[in-house]
Amino acid sequence: MLGNMMSKPLLISSILTHAEQVHGKAEIVTRTVEGPIHRYTYTDAAKRTKQLANALNSMGVELGDRIATLAWNTYRHYETYYAISCIGAITHTINPRLFPEQIVYIANHAEDKVLFLDLTFVPLVEALQDKMGTIEKYVIMTDREHMPETTLPNVICYEELIAEESDQIVWPEFDENTAAGLCYTSGTTGNPKGALYSHRSTVLHTYAAAMPDSIGCGNADALLPVVPMFHVFAWGVPYFATMVGAKIVFPGPHMDGESLHELIEGEQVTTMLGVPTVWLGLLDYLRSKDIKLSSVKKSIIGGSAAPLGMIKEFQETHDVFVLHAWGMTELSPLGCTNSYNQAMANISLEERYKMQLKQGRPVFGIEFKVVNDAGEALPHDGKSYGRLLVRGPWVVSAYFRNDDMSSFEDGWFDTGDVVTMDENANIQIVDRKKDVIKSGGEWISSIDLENIAVSHPDVKEACVIGVKHPKWDERPLLFIVKQDEADLTKEEILDFVGNQVATWWKPDDVVFVDELPHTATGKLLKLSLREEYMDHLMG
Ligand code: AMP
Repeated sequence: MLGNMMSKPLLISSILTHAEQVHGKAEIVTRTVEGPIHRYTYTDAAKRTKQLANALNSMGVELGDRIATLAWNTYRHYETYYAISCIGAITHTINPRLFPEQIVYIANHAEDKVLFLDLTFVPLVEALQDKMGTIEKYVIMTDREHMPETTLPNVICYEELIAEESDQIVWPEFDENTAAGLCYTSGTTGNPKGALYSHRSTVLHTYAAAMPDSIGCGNADALLPVVPMFHVFAWGVPYFATMVGAKIVFPGPHMDGESLHELIEGEQVTTMLGVPTVWLGLLDYLRSKDIKLSSVKKSIIGGSAAPLGMIKEFQETHDVFVLHAWGMTELSPLGCTNSYNQAMANISLEERYKMQLKQGRPVFGIEFKVVNDAGEALPHDGKSYGRLLVRGPWVVSAYFRNDDMSSFEDGWFDTGDVVTMDENANIQIVDRKKDVIKSGGEWISSIDLENIAVSHPDVKEACVIGVKHPKWDERPLLFIVKQDEADLTKEEILDFVGNQVATWWKPDDVVFVDELPHTATGKLLKLSLREEYMDHLMG
């Protein structure tokens, strides 16, 4: 017997319509690419989004067309998110930090029809346009006054595109499983792979992300998504902030400590979201000026492991709780969060920090399974490591236009992460499967060693890789970027790390470098280091 309830499809347009009707006066603030701060309300945003949607319809954009963006976190990018998906086309965010060949590959693989780009990326796109065969029109996201000279063909000015359009539209209704968004992984090997989200998966992810023990977001919050809108839809901020009518503060292209601090204080940000690297910059700035944050309550850190020093400094200097979260492009991206919980209430801060280093418990909707190589479930003892498999309504079931199903088994997606799970269902990422160091048949976690190394005050950044060893097969090699003017020796850092781990985990050598390679999403790019240093211990 079926229930008697209405079956309204879960569509992204309903989020915007709700915000317009219920949260019309809440603000969206942007540091624009052109420079000044722009400020408007959800009512204004909804109107302009409808104008853009009408413009897309006039351009002949149809259901299922891929419309790409190459843009920073701004109100115009926000408008493209909604206008494109709400008419049934697919918002395809491209990460401008990818290698140019990857951008070309992605645009061609997706067969993007129109590209919306920020002023910053005009030279990049000019250089690549000959190779991006399917793009018919380029929309530069600025006004007439700032339109650049360009060699791009069929170029349109964003503000002129929408100016004459009606701000009325009846959003179309279609199947909730219709594709809404496309985001390619920034893998370190092979071609990027596309995760194609649906309206249903996005709306469910939005509910899940807003819940208090998840990312947690309410109407009284002011959110600063430093995580880029070109990386997994800024972890869903543009959707869940809109659903609850929170203020959104978009940092535009300026993510240095000083610019972020100015926005945080000026707009009284309560919640900020980003990868550890951006917070390193902010904390450095605050420390150098001896400034304390006054309004922020929560800093959501994901994408890479949040280091202990960062969790401590946010708490002790700024009274900011670090909510460590884990996710990936294939999960839209939210998998688990480590929110403030009962177990944290009556313990010392030091004990609590140890808990906060874990990535947390799955949010409702996502199931986790930790298995060994034979696929057998491992005990939840906080010690046994294995592959993390996940499933849920916002997890990919295949890659876009790709028949490689090697990451999918029996209805589960293999994340490629190696984790432990404790008795409270908290996972801790031990490593990426391909980064685990296998020394004499035993595993060493490169992430654990990196976390310890960066807790040394003279260390700015650390990276550990496994390199060939004549006796042990593989041994850890540590790379260190020193703090400016730090006088750190090899012996000091090796002893510092060695004293905090089992003897056989101590790295065999240290290489001091000026900088470390990163992927387009700010993760350490270990592949090139591995190639260069593979024989470092063989000589
Ligand atoms: P991406 O798809 O680019 O967002 O990358 C996802 C990968 O980033 C995951 O599979 C993890 O390896 C890594 N990752 C994400 N969040 C965390 C975290 N909190 N701690 C450690 N690694 C993380």
